[in-house]
Parts: sequence; C-alpha cells; structure tokens
Amino acid sequence: MNTKHLTPSAGRPKAIIIGGGVIGCAAAFQLSEAGFDCTVLDKGRLCSEATTAAAGMLGAQVETHHPGPFYELCRISQGMYRRWTDALEHTGGVSTEYIAEGILRAALTEEDEQELRSRLAWIQDARWCTPDELRELEPALSPKVRGGLHFPADHQVHPAALARALKAALVKQGCTIREETPVFRLLKDTRSGRITGVQTAEGPLYADTVVLAAGAWSPALTEPLGLPLPMFPVKGQCISVKPQAPLTQSTVFTKGCYIVPKADGSCLVGATQVEAGFDKRATAAVIADLHARASALLPALADAEFLSTWAGLRPGTRDGLPFMGTWETAPGLIFATGHYRNGILLAPAAGRIVRQLALGEKPLLDLAPFDPARHLNQPAPAL
Ligand SMILES: Cc1cc2nc3c(=O)[nH]c(=O)nc-3n(C[C@H](O)[C@H](O)[C@H](O)COP(=O)(O)OP(=O)(O)OC[C@H]3O[C@@H](n4cnc5c(N)ncnc54)[C@H](O)[C@@H]3O)c2cc1C
Repeated sequence: MNTKHLTPSAGRPKAIIIGGGVIGCAAAFQLSEAGFDCTVLDKGRLCSEATTAAAGMLGAQVETHHPGPFYELCRISQGMYRRWTDALEHTGGVSTEYIAEGILRAALTEEDEQELRSRLAWIQDARWCTPDELRELEPALSPKVRGGLHFPADHQVHPAALARALKAALVKQGCTIREETPVFRLLKDTRSGRITGVQTAEGPLYADTVVLAAGAWSPALTEPLGLPLPMFPVKGQCISVKPQAPLTQSTVFTKGCYIVPKADGSCLVGATQVEAGFDKRATAAVIADLHARASALLPALADAEFLSTWAGLRPGTRDGLPFMGTWETAPGLIFATGHYRNGILLAPAAGRIVRQLALGEKPLLDLAPFDPARHLNQPAPAL
C-alpha cells in the first residue's frame, strides 16, 4: 500500500482533483501548468465514465436552444478548443483525433423545422440550408429532409483519443494519477471551515486546493457539508456501426439522433437520454431504435455493420447549468461538475476557470449563473 500522504508544504502548492474524467483532467492540466503539484484521484480508471461514453461533438451551436450564459460559456470553450488540443498533443505526444468538419442539423418534421428556424434570431456561425443545399453538402441525407442549419464551427474529437491524450499530457507534466482510489469524504478544518483534503482507503490526503470533478457522483461528497447539489445521472446509450463506405464528412443531427463519422470509417450513433439512477446497462431495444432513427436520416446506414454499444451517465443538473465556482462556506474547494451533455466541449473553459479560481484571478466569465449554491438562494415556492 502506498502510505505517502500529501501535506500542504511551503514549496509548490498542492491540488487534489477528485475525479479523473475530462473535466478533472482538464483542471489538472491547467493547474499543473500553473505550478501546482497535482494529484488526480479516481474511484475507477481515468476517463472511464461519461467521458469515453461521449460522442465527442463540440456542439456549441447545435446543443444550445436559447441565448444566455450557457451559450456564452459554450462559445468561449469552443474558441479555446483547437489551441487546447494542440497543447495536449504537443505535451503528451498523443492525438486527440480532432476533426474540423461541422454539423448539419436537419429537420424531418414541420415542428422541428420551425424550432430550428427560430434559432436564426440569435445563433451565430449558422446558416439556413434548403433541402437541396443540405444534400449538396451531404448527398447521403434522406430525401425527406425539410432543410436545416449548418454549423461549420461545431467540430469533433474522439473521446477515447482525447482521454489518452489527457493522460499522456498529465503524466508528462508530472501529475500523480491514482486510479481505483475512491474519495470517501472531504476533510474540513472545524475552526476555519476550510476544505483541507480528502479521505481515502489509504488514509487522509491533504492539499491547498481540492477540486470536485466527480461527475454524476459529486452530490455524495457535498451533502455532508450541507450543500445538496441538485444533480442526477442521465443515462445515454450509443451504438457504433460501419457503413460499407464513408457516408458523410459532417456530423449529421436530427431531433432525437445524431451520427458522428469517425476517422476509422465507423459512425457513432447517439444517444438516449434516460433518468434511471446509476444503471449503465446497454439494452438491445435501444440498439434497434437508434439504428432505425439513424437510417431515417441516412438511409444507406440500413445495411451498415453493427460494431458495438455502450452507455454512460451524464452529470445532469436541474437547471441544465454546470456548477462552477466556489462556496463561501467551504473555502479551499473548487466546483467543476454538472457539465451534463457538453463536458467534452466545455473542458478547456472548465480547466481554465479552475486555474483562475485557484490562483485568485478573475474568471474568464461571470460565474454567478453557475454558482454551486444558487439553488439555496431561491425563494421557496408560494403555497
Ligand atoms: C452518450 C453520451 C454522449 C455524449 N456526447 C457528448 C458530446 O458529443 N459532446 C460533449 O461535449 N459531451 C458529451 N457528453 C457529455 C460528456 O460526456 C460529459 O459532460 C462529461 O464526460 C462529464 O465529464 P466529467 O469529468 O464531469 O464526468 P465523468 O467523465 O463521469 O468523470 C467523473 C469521474 O469521477 C470519478 N469519481 C466519481 N466519484 C468519485 C469519488 N468519490 N472518488 C474518486 N473518483 C470519483 C468517476 O469514476 C469518473 O471517472 C455525452 C455523454 C454521454 C453519456
């Protein structure tokens, strides 16, 4: 057993990151760059939960349904992405399989067409395409498409490749990675209220800064502090299929289904969205349903080879916004959780925000909408 305990020292400041998903790893990358001595703790293997279940779309435009702080955050992170993946690839020497092709969001029903057209009032980097224009861009699309939006800036990465690139970059930067090391609880100094470390099976580990990046499992760690985070797991199941020849360059997306072409010629088809607790079983019925939806949009997928299926748990929040920031009742703790459907996209911004908070700098955007205690301040509903 490794008995080495971390204690705050006069040397480099220490940071413990709870959760080695894309958000925790992005935070560790930024913190170690800023001079922190970082330890990433994961209850399982690095990036083995929601992160590698994801499709990898960087869908700042396609995923947002109205303007506001979430859209602003998505756009900031999208703007940072290529430089971030370049830095990871340069540091660790592993490709993130970044593909600079956009997303076509096609409508198959009148209702969907209206919803998409209404976004034109505020969405940026988007263009309305007639059915002919859509099929000019992607000839394999169904003749039933009624038109749609082209988002040229909504690129993609391969989540498994991104996970490998993050791990290599963290190792290169000297971060300590401890897998199979669940954090049981946060350690708090009773006098100051400061979060001073975490309790693990190997004993206490201490640090100057603790980052909560435990995805859908985060509430279990904050509840004992008196902060019940309104978060819940949202199960998403995907399938991977291989058409006989590549069908599209772009990701194609319609209501209830998206098809993301990957560099190896496979297509990732996603995804369900079910609140079913921590159940991650992939079911046969969903395979058939996703395949039927995908074939309605890209008919040539009907005879594609089935490769695999899997499910992951998105860290959902009641208002759809992540929890990013600090809480005055627990100084020393930085929240970086609840990135729901967009954690792959939001990782560069989340990592930068953690770094800025740890250094006491002004965050890159106003964090009030993402305040981890925002729900505590809401008035009780009228009787
Ligand atoms: C099917 C599907 C498709 C998706 N597609 C996209 C997409 O196209 N684009 C996009 O941007 N996002 C997408 N997402 C969302 C994205 O995957 C998540 O938002 C993101 O992975 C969240 O990252 P995370 O690091 O917060 O959580 P996770 O990846 O779940 O990581 C949390 C980590 O914390 C660890 N942990 C938990 N509790 C503890 C503890 N007590 N002690 C130690 N470790 C702990 C877990 O083991 C886990 O490794 C998708 C998600 C799913 C499921």
